[in-house]
Amino acid sequence: MPRIETPEAPTVSTVHSSLHRTGAGAVAVLTIDNPPVNAMSMAVRIDLLAAVWDAADNAQVQALVLIGAGGKFIPGADIREFGKPQGAGPVISGREVIAALESCPKPVIAALGVHALGGGLEIALGCHFRVATSDCKLGLPEVSIGLLPGAGGTQRLPRLVGPARALELITSGKPMTAADAQDSGVVDELVDGPLLEGALAFAQRVLTKARPLQRVSERNQRLAGTDAALFTEFRAKHAKKWRGQIAPQRIVDCIEAACTKPFAEAYAFELAAFDECKASAQRAALIHAFQAEREAARIPGLSADVQPQPIRSAAVIGAGTMGGGIAMCFANAGLPVWLLDANPESLARGRALIEKNYATSVARGSLSQAQVDRALALITGTLEYAAIGDADIVVEAAFEDLVVKKHVFQQLDAVMKPSAVLATNTSTLDIDKIANATARPAQVIGAHFFSPANVMKLLEVVRGAATSPQVIVTTMALAKTIGKTAVLSGNADGFIGNRILAVYGRECDFLLEEGATPWQVDRALQGFGFPMGLYLMRDMAGLDVGWRIRQYREQFRDKALRYSPIADRLCERGRFGQKTGAGYYRYTGRDGSPDADVERLIEEVSREMKITRRAVSDDEIVSRVLSAMANEGLKIVGEGIALREGDIDAAYVHGYGFPRHQGGPMYWAAQQGWDIIHDTVTRLHAAQGALWAPAPRLAALAEQDRQTRALIPA
Ligand code: NAD
Repeated sequence: MPRIETPEAPTVSTVHSSLHRTGAGAVAVLTIDNPPVNAMSMAVRIDLLAAVWDAADNAQVQALVLIGAGGKFIPGADIREFGKPQGAGPVISGREVIAALESCPKPVIAALGVHALGGGLEIALGCHFRVATSDCKLGLPEVSIGLLPGAGGTQRLPRLVGPARALELITSGKPMTAADAQDSGVVDELVDGPLLEGALAFAQRVLTKARPLQRVSERNQRLAGTDAALFTEFRAKHAKKWRGQIAPQRIVDCIEAACTKPFAEAYAFELAAFDECKASAQRAALIHAFQAEREAARIPGLSADVQPQPIRSAAVIGAGTMGGGIAMCFANAGLPVWLLDANPESLARGRALIEKNYATSVARGSLSQAQVDRALALITGTLEYAAIGDADIVVEAAFEDLVVKKHVFQQLDAVMKPSAVLATNTSTLDIDKIANATARPAQVIGAHFFSPANVMKLLEVVRGAATSPQVIVTTMALAKTIGKTAVLSGNADGFIGNRILAVYGRECDFLLEEGATPWQVDRALQGFGFPMGLYLMRDMAGLDVGWRIRQYREQFRDKALRYSPIADRLCERGRFGQKTGAGYYRYTGRDGSPDADVERLIEEVSREMKITRRAVSDDEIVSRVLSAMANEGLKIVGEGIALREGDIDAAYVHGYGFPRHQGGPMYWAAQQGWDIIHDTVTRLHAAQGALWAPAPRLAALAEQDRQTRALIPA
């Protein structure tokens, strides 16, 4: 018989139903199958709702098991649908699916494996019972993209774990382990063997014992009598961290509503709060930040044959501030690491510092003693290059001195196996000069960690002229293994991040000369969302290092360009920041307070520069500093040093404290409109000269935005 071709593409269901007999009756197994990870797309919601209705109506079915294909439950919303307009088809919300699950008259069991996150966990909380494999991660991470769980997560989770724990979990977005989820009542049972078999056995026991259906929305015991102070104190504790952010504050409101209002009312409150977050500019900025981070890992133009080589062991040269932190990154990821130093005392000091840092993590509760013991056992100190030859990667973090680094790389060249990646953590030196000290420059790359290396998420991966594509992809993949966000940079002074930081600092300094004070600049930047203003940050890091670098670079400085001597003047007076009790601020312990001496020093500089001081507004500070950063960012992309603007945003969010909910400097500029940035840049260029030279692409981007603006009705 000839095949009949249908004009439309066949619709593939994302949920398959099958009937399984157990000793206590038939169980409908609904399998969510939405490759690659079973994300919750609109199609999944539609198909799941239909499958639940069918199973509820089917007289043969005694119970339902909800599971994901390949044992993976739902990891959250389908990011392929982020920011896309709703299609013309039917619209089913997660809330409708959950209502069908929760009100089903037959027991519904969620079988959780690998991940049950976001909307996935909300679906699971809508089921009557939950079983999970021990490797499953459960959580509500919506806050990281500017949202809150809008399908009952803020209402059902507190009913199981209690409001105090729910506040921590949902405002941090951090997942729970399956064991923790079982202890706190989210999971009824952990499954040892195959998940489906375990879930069916559990269903059989529920049927045999005729266990009553547990509708989470009806379980109010853990909410009763919650002290209102819990919320007041939680808000106060996080006020600084959440400054200007909507989602975490609304999450607290929703959990408070769960404790003070009947379910239906609080559930409606959650939806309104969700809609508010969804409509906010912050949400769009956070989605951008999320996508920029993912995109940064992609390197266009590489052949598919170029695959990362496995990294199973590492070595770090230099057991100082950075080397110790880098070794911790490897050990935390379960990789054995050699820590080599030229000097036995430095090695011992480095080891002691690592132990101290780990002890702090245990005290804070971010790592368990068992995790720390495992990590410490993976770090082996050595003074001998011969010991490290078999490591798959070595990261050099010795002194920032080209002669020292060349010498280190010659020794590495002599001992490392041919396939080893040879990375340097230099901040300022030329990768090619270091690479050329070896007979294998293709294996050499920059791996620029940020301080503290075990905490900061950014890793600038710097490609030299000879670095091989495989070494690049291996280093990018390694970044992921050790939990870093990698951004690829060309080999140019300051790479991406520090080049923009120089412009950021320069403009702040000029604003001081023109009329602002350090505390005003810091207040404006913190008001924008930076956790710490520039001057507090400089004081914390210490002003002497930058001073020494400036003294060395003085010989190369273009004397025709405007230069602010304020930082140098502070150093000349021995004001090196927190460590000397005085810098831009005066310190009692770590608390800085404004200092009239500094104000006088700045006024003196203004007089010398013949600048008439004027009132500078907080808005001007933010707009001028960010416009300068964005203009520099465009130059960096134009020169091919960064692959795309989003990489600059990712670098700034993860390495420089740029508020994630503002998206990044390039995103900020695009939101303002490049025409506005262009106006600022050209005005300052006319007034201040070459430092403000517009990026070559700025005029074209401005013209585009001007035209778009003209189309928008006033
Ligand atoms: P550090 O002075 O704290 O540590 C350097 C260590 O290297 C010392 O323990 C020293 O004994 C050891 N060392 C020196 N020469 C050596 C050699 N030939 N062989 C083996 N060990 C040797 O310095 P740091 O602050 O950790 O900086 C290390 C590198 O990281 C520098 O290149 C620096 O520019 C870069 N970096 C530093 C930061 C930061 O904030 N400190 C940030 C990013 C990158």
